[in-house]
Amino acid sequence: MVLQLLDDFLQLVFPRLCASCQKYAVSAKAILCPYCEIEITITKYHLQIENDCTMRLEGRTSLHSGTSMYRFYPQGRVQQMIHRIKYQRQWDIARRLGLRYGSLLHSSPIYHQVDFVVPVPLHLHKLRKRGYNQSSAFAQGLAKAMGVDWSDQLLRRVRNTATQTHKTRLERLENVAGAFALKKSTLLEGRNVLLVDDVLTTGATLEACIEEVQKANPRSVSFATIALAEK
Ligand SMILES: [Zn+2]
Repeated sequence: MVLQLLDDFLQLVFPRLCASCQKYAVSAKAILCPYCEIEITITKYHLQIENDCTMRLEGRTSLHSGTSMYRFYPQGRVQQMIHRIKYQRQWDIARRLGLRYGSLLHSSPIYHQVDFVVPVPLHLHKLRKRGYNQSSAFAQGLAKAMGVDWSDQLLRRVRNTATQTHKTRLERLENVAGAFALKKSTLLEGRNVLLVDDVLTTGATLEACIEEVQKANPRSVSFATIALAEK
C-alpha cells in the first residue's frame, strides 16, 4: 500500500515516459505509449516451434525452441528501446519487458515447462563499465512472471570478445568460440533451461552458450530474446 502510494507520487512528480519514443507519459504499469503500442507488436514466435528465430540456429538439433518478443528494424521503435536499455542505463525497461513476455511464455504450450532462466553474460570488464547486464534484467522479469528460478552466476563470459556488429556469421562464430564457460553445478541438471539475450542476429552467441549449457545435462535448452534483428 505504502509502496503503491510512493509509486503514484513519483509518477506524478517524475512521469514515466514511453520506453521507445520518450515523448509521452505512460501509466505506472505500461511500458509503451498508445502510439508505440500500435507500432510495436509482439511476435507469435512463442506459439510456433519453427519460426524466423529458430531458422537462425538451424542445424542445432539440441535446441528445443526459440523465440523473440519483437522484431528489430534499423532506426525503428524497437531499436530505440534497445538503445535506451543498453546505453542509457534504462535496464528497468528490460525487466518490465521480461515481466510482460514471461506471462505469455508461461501460458505457451511450448515454453510452459521452462524451469530455469539463464541470461547470456557480459564480460566482467563490460559489466563493470556498464554497471548492469541488460540480459540479466530481462531474465529477472521473465523468471518472476514464469514463477521459476534464474541465475547469472552459472554461465560466465571468460573472453572479452570484440563487438559482433558488422561481422559475418562465420566471423561471429570464430569471435565467440571459447568465450563462455559454465560453472560446475548440478542446478541445471534435468532442467528445461531458457537462455536469454537482448538481440538475436546470427545466433552465434546463443550457439556458443547453448553448447556450454548442454555440458550440465539439462533436459532441454530453449532461448528467448527481446528482439530479432534483420541480418
Ligand atoms: Zn511511444
